[in-house]
Amino acid sequence: MPRQSGVQHVVALSGGKDSTALALWLAENEPRDYQFVCTPTGDELPEMIEHWIKLGKMLGSRILPVTAGKGLSALIEQHTMLPNHRARWCTRQLKLEPYYRWLAQQAPAVSYVGLRADESERQGMVFPETDGITMRFPLREQGFTEADVWAFLDERGVEIPARTDCARCYHQTLGEWWRLWKMHPDLFEAAMLEEEWVSEQRGETYTFRNPSRDSWPAGLRDLRAEFEKGRVPPRTVQQIDMFRGERRMTGACRVCSL
Ligand code: SF4
Repeated sequence: MPRQSGVQHVVALSGGKDSTALALWLAENEPRDYQFVCTPTGDELPEMIEHWIKLGKMLGSRILPVTAGKGLSALIEQHTMLPNHRARWCTRQLKLEPYYRWLAQQAPAVSYVGLRADESERQGMVFPETDGITMRFPLREQGFTEADVWAFLDERGVEIPARTDCARCYHQTLGEWWRLWKMHPDLFEAAMLEEEWVSEQRGETYTFRNPSRDSWPAGLRDLRAEFEKGRVPPRTVQQIDMFRGERRMTGACRVCSL
C-alpha cells in the first residue's frame, strides 16, 4: 500500500512477544507501508536472528537494522568496561540513541510501540515527544493483555525465542547462563574471556554476573566449572519451558524484550 501523506509509519521490533504481535496485528488490521526496524547489538543469539528473518517473511517486508556502528563487544573494549545494573550504557548506546537518531530523521512519522494495556508505566523504546513524531500504542488501544498477546501469537503459530536479549547480557538469570553454556559454549567462552580481559586491564575483578545475586560463582570461568561438574541451577530456562504459564520468564530487561 502506498505511503500516506508522506508520513512514515515505523514499527520498532525487539523481536520479543509484544513487538512481534504488534507488527503482525498492524499488518493484518491496519495494512499500510510500514518500515519495520530492529536495533541489533551484534550479540544476539542465532535463534533471535532466525526469528527476525522469519518475521520479515511473514510481514512481507525486510526488517531494517538500525545500529550504532559498533556492537556490544567493540564497546566493551572501547570502554574497558562490562555493562551492569549501575552502568547500563549498552541499552542507551546500542539501542535507544541509534533508534532515536534514526527516527528523528524520519519525521513526519508515526512510531508504533508494543506496550500493552496491562502495563501502566511507559517503558521500552518510547521516543520522547518531539515535533513531527507521533507515538501510537495499538496493543494498548485494543486492550491487549499479556495473555491476549500469547493467544494472538499462538493462533498464528508464532514462536518467540526463549531469549531476545544479548547472549552475554548481565541481566540474564543463572538458568540462562546455564543454557548459554549448554547450547552455545563458544558464546559462553567469549563472554568469559571478555570478563577476564576487562579484569586484567582494570586490575580488579569484573564479572557480568552480580556477585550478590546468588550463591553461585560470579565469574564465568568458575561458573562453567560448576556446570561441568553437573550442577544445574534450580530454574533453568528448559525447566521454565515445561510450564506454559511461565515459559517465557527470562531475565531480559524491558527495552531489550519489548
Ligand atoms: S540485552 Fe542486556 S546487554 Fe544487551 S543491550 Fe540490553 S541490557 Fe544491554
